[in-house]
Amino acid sequence: MSQTVEQPSVEQIWDWLDAVPDPEIPVISLVDLGIIRDVAWEGDRLVITVTPTYSGCPATSIINLDIETALRGHGIERLELKRQLSPAWTTDWLSDKGRARLEDYGIAPPQPAGGPDRCPRCHGPNVERLSQFGSTPCKAQWRCTDCLEPFDYFKCI
Ligand SMILES: [Zn+2]
Repeated sequence: MSQTVEQPSVEQIWDWLDAVPDPEIPVISLVDLGIIRDVAWEGDRLVITVTPTYSGCPATSIINLDIETALRGHGIERLELKRQLSPAWTTDWLSDKGRARLEDYGIAPPQPAGGPDRCPRCHGPNVERLSQFGSTPCKAQWRCTDCLEPFDYFKCI
């Protein structure tokens, strides 16, 4: 009767975290966003390493709470959230699945060129910037000159 507590596998934990939506853009998960850097068991304690998207981003504390709530809901009792600031998060860490989901949702995913290469709705290449600032600091407002629809562009940082 030594070890009777079964620990969920690290893969299982990643699956659970992949079901936790980003509070700012709920169409993608925290795992899609690329901010979960590591998941590891240290004895009977689960350690999750998180890199915040923007320092001072108001969503950071919400994200930590969402992670805790989700994992406690799966029966994880001993949990530690580690903040890792370096290397800093960049939009390169967005998963391919996350990028596809953003576009499905009408948000142009970040591009290395610094601007969207096509309209997320009609996929036309003719786009223009309306404003540097969108509905959140991580987004800019663009417009498609083909279908004339405005859309959000997820800014590269
Ligand atoms: Zn369009």
